[in-house]
Amino acid sequence: MTSIRQALHLLLADPEEKPFHAQANVVKREKVSANFTRITLRSTEFGQYSAPWPADAVKLELTPDEHRVYTVRHFDGSAGAIAIDVFDHGVGLGTTWAGNGVGITGRRPEFFRSAEVDSFLFLADSSALPAIAAIFDSLEDSDQVTAVLAVAPEDRSLVAIRPSWDVRWVDELPSRPPIPAGRVQAWVAGEASSTKKLRGVLLRDGAIRLDDFKVGAYWWEGRTWTDSFSASVEKFHRLAAEGKDMTDPTVLESLTMD
Ligand SMILES: Cc1cc2nc3c(=O)[nH]c(=O)nc-3n(C[C@H](O)[C@H](O)[C@H](O)COP(=O)(O)OP(=O)(O)OC[C@H]3O[C@@H](n4cnc5c(N)ncnc54)[C@H](O)[C@@H]3O)c2cc1C
Repeated sequence: MTSIRQALHLLLADPEEKPFHAQANVVKREKVSANFTRITLRSTEFGQYSAPWPADAVKLELTPDEHRVYTVRHFDGSAGAIAIDVFDHGVGLGTTWAGNGVGITGRRPEFFRSAEVDSFLFLADSSALPAIAAIFDSLEDSDQVTAVLAVAPEDRSLVAIRPSWDVRWVDELPSRPPIPAGRVQAWVAGEASSTKKLRGVLLRDGAIRLDDFKVGAYWWEGRTWTDSFSASVEKFHRLAAEGKDMTDPTVLESLTMD
């Protein structure tokens, strides 16, 4: 019996779980909705990535100095292919990058379906739409799912939803999200300041147990990924030097949430 936070901790601390690094080529770019482009990457080295979890993330080295983090939307081990869906938010290296060869490092696990909980709550914006789509593909019809997703109408078809699930589409993430009764596993991802606020709301008074909670700052308003990543790397080294367990999701979360 494992909660999401315990499962992520166990995986990150597992000595068998070594980061993989691969050189990949872009074999296809296709527009899959108004604001998303699917990039298919192929590599003979993807064999190192043998046991994917839904919504795993990878780091793409777009230039020698800059990388961006994206979700593995599809993985085809036999074809040696990974597909990522890139959100075009108007500006940014990730949206304008047109290269053909890229280094990939992974993986960063983001989701685990705990069998201990009564239901699942998802709060996410467009940056996490590929993650939500991958997670939803991994859930069952019988799972109790509540989701509030801040995604433009023209991109919503990228997510497959079961009829019994309560999925609400909104323009922006709510400050007071619905919290289902019972033991709930909550998964939150999106802009840093709104996810940080939601963290406070969901953990307040034990509405959601910390063990059942996963939050991710997927982007920062007004800051590039490189700016915010540099700040968290400095903090990572400081905490590591203080002897903190850098495989503990709670310690890792403090890099962006404190
Ligand atoms: C674990 C993880 C998984 C992720 N998976 C995906 C994914 O599958 N697909 C995806 O598209 N993104 C994903 N992201 C988010 C993505 O890494 C960031 O949005 C990143 O900043 C994009 O880089 P960029 O070069 O486009 O913009 P940057 O150069 O980083 O930023 C340029 C400007 O755009 C703004 N900006 C950045 N991202 C967004 C956004 N999403 N919406 C509105 N404004 C934005 C910034 O505030 C800045 O002002 C993920 C992030 C994480 C941490």
